[in-house]
Amino acid sequence: MTIEPFVQKLEQVLLLDEWKKLMPTAIVGFTTKNGGISDRWFTSFNLGLHVNDRLDVVSANRRTLAELLDFPPPAWVCAEQIHDKNIVKVTKENGGQGIFDYEASIKGTDGLYTDEPDVLLTTCYADCVPLYFLEPERKLIGVAHAGWKGTVKNIGGEMVKKWTEQEGADVNSIHAAIGPAIGKCCYVVDDHVIHLVKKALPSSETVPYRTVSKGQYALDLKLLNKLLLVAAGVPPENILVSSYCTSCESGMFFSHRRDHGKTGRMLSFIGMKK
Ligand SMILES: [Zn+2]
Repeated sequence: MTIEPFVQKLEQVLLLDEWKKLMPTAIVGFTTKNGGISDRWFTSFNLGLHVNDRLDVVSANRRTLAELLDFPPPAWVCAEQIHDKNIVKVTKENGGQGIFDYEASIKGTDGLYTDEPDVLLTTCYADCVPLYFLEPERKLIGVAHAGWKGTVKNIGGEMVKKWTEQEGADVNSIHAAIGPAIGKCCYVVDDHVIHLVKKALPSSETVPYRTVSKGQYALDLKLLNKLLLVAAGVPPENILVSSYCTSCESGMFFSHRRDHGKTGRMLSFIGMKK
């Protein structure tokens, strides 16, 4: 039996407790759809600024999370998220970017990392896969947004490459976590996507999809990300995978697929305290 690594601590927050052992000052987790003040299909803890919810309401939800995590708004750094594989290193200088103004978020990127404390890295989700990274020796933390596009472009492998080539990290010291996302139970894709999956997939015994009908495949996007991280050199035992499916768990998560696009956004976060 596998134990779910993302543990619900508050109505609004799940935390990745396991990484406390690696870095006691790290705060790592994912939000739920509950405990906020948004209405309509954003009920109630919508944290997405770019989905036509009211700005004052999303800002209030974001302030609530800032208080719950004890990471004030000037510590937050938010990414624009364009379903690509570009990753940016940020510092305290970037603090506050995009928390209350989507236009001010870090442009053209789906992945953020830092080696500084008191910076909260964030990205938004409604089914896509949140990837988390931590390297305790060099005190590196990172987050990356991997929908199917970012996954087949291998944004996870890109983070590993940045850390090993530019930050001097030993790949064996890199830990990764794959957060709540749409599961293979609910994620059917077409030939176009599977063609790109096959191209991205390293020579692996494990096939992360199965045919459900002609030209239709159930894809395990979380497993595909794990395979790509292993191919990038991350030891399999250093990779945690959430079993939560954002589509199945309708009481807990927003889901773009399940809600036919009319939905809010959860937030993945990782930060270190001093
Ligand atoms: Zn499901």
